[in-house]
Amino acid sequence: MTKFSELNLSPKVLKAIDEAGYESPTPIQEGAIPPALEGRDVLGIAQTGTGKTASFTLPMITALARGRARARMPRSLVLAPTRELAAQVAENFDQYAKYVKLSKALLIGGVSFKEQDLLIDKGVDVLIATPGRLLDHFERGKLILSDVKVMVVDEADRMLDMGFIPDIERIFGLTPFTRQTLFFSATMAPEIERITNTFLSNPARVEVARQATASETIEQGVVMVKPSRRDREGTEKRKVLRAIIDGEGEACSNAIIFCNRKTDVDIVAKSLKKYGYNAAPIHGDLDQSQRTRTLESFREGALRILVASDVAARGLDVPSVSHVFNFDVPGHAEDYVHRIGRTGRAGREGKAFTICAPRDEKNFAAVEALIQKEIPRVENPVKPAEKPEKRAAAEPAEIEAAPAPEADTDDMPQRGRRSRGGRGRGRGRDRDDAPINVVGMGDHLPSFIALSFEERQAG
Ligand code: AMP
Repeated sequence: MTKFSELNLSPKVLKAIDEAGYESPTPIQEGAIPPALEGRDVLGIAQTGTGKTASFTLPMITALARGRARARMPRSLVLAPTRELAAQVAENFDQYAKYVKLSKALLIGGVSFKEQDLLIDKGVDVLIATPGRLLDHFERGKLILSDVKVMVVDEADRMLDMGFIPDIERIFGLTPFTRQTLFFSATMAPEIERITNTFLSNPARVEVARQATASETIEQGVVMVKPSRRDREGTEKRKVLRAIIDGEGEACSNAIIFCNRKTDVDIVAKSLKKYGYNAAPIHGDLDQSQRTRTLESFREGALRILVASDVAARGLDVPSVSHVFNFDVPGHAEDYVHRIGRTGRAGREGKAFTICAPRDEKNFAAVEALIQKEIPRVENPVKPAEKPEKRAAAEPAEIEAAPAPEADTDDMPQRGRRSRGGRGRGRGRDRDDAPINVVGMGDHLPSFIALSFEERQAG
């Protein structure tokens, strides 16, 4: 087995790795670090959890230890699709570069331009950014990219999903032709292949096994739900969700609930809170400080249930959770594997439950086809015979919302971006920082409705 000390990393980087407690490089690190240190382009086909962040940060720190940045001319650039991923990369830099003097700036939405401008003005060695924010700074004339020596594109497949590819192409064009490119993607869709053929030069291709199968330590189950009425689907699915969580009892110590739509992320979190569960939402419409606070409290164990969209949760380095719940079946079958991969890590036991309504059945078949396994059917824990009127008397009022068609695309390019030609962008999805599309009652739930039937009678 290769040791970190055999990889030609600088002694200061090795010291930081040692303190992080890493014993040996992961396969992507073993494959990507040597060519990256030689100055070659790297095409890494790997997903989160493989140690890919260190596979580009470690050689970058080693290489950047020599030389100094000039004002407004960063020496390296890391592009990540979401704010959280960019922040995570920045944390990695801090951890691994603690014995090396490197300046760094994080350019993400939700943070004031002024603070970021000040940092850029001083000159930064490492600029970590989401594509939209980077271009905003560039267009304001605050940033010059002609001194970029190393450019990293992280999670390129997610960038494609989010419509960022035109921005990425543009940024490539703004950096010098002689730059070194380290490019990471979990999958190689034709569009990604095209980008790498255009912008990478004879890259070292490093591929680590795709996670097409879920870990054996994850126990999976699906509850097939047939709503009594189409307009009660959400309410009834939330009831099933609570029944599953309750059925798991204390074994469910911490969980992530995934929803396909931001509106559902909000509604499910609100509904759970109303029923007394310790839950909070995370998605692209929430402001940055709130997202950071929610994540921290989930990491620390103060928050038991995180309700998330795929984009917001993608790549987040949260500790292994005991349970993953899919409030609905993801539209991309690979997302199912990513979602349930949040549990059962490092040989620990984990459980993953999926709720599948009739309209999700096609997507569910695609999931089973991908993992080449039948997911055991679990009996619906909610008895269908009860009448809705009776339930209303016994329980807090539910929050209902009209179905919204949008998926959560988190840091979608924002205002003013249309002028950049947005090929493939948007596709009718939500934009970041757009108001949450809760129709019907949503946030404006009149308080009397939140009262129980008895309270209403009394009041
Ligand atoms: P990533 O795939 O970059 O998101 O990394 C996933 C997790 O693996 C992070 O928590 C890293 O701190 C951790 N990690 C990265 N490299 C190693 C290593 N060589 N040994 C042990 N853990 C690692």
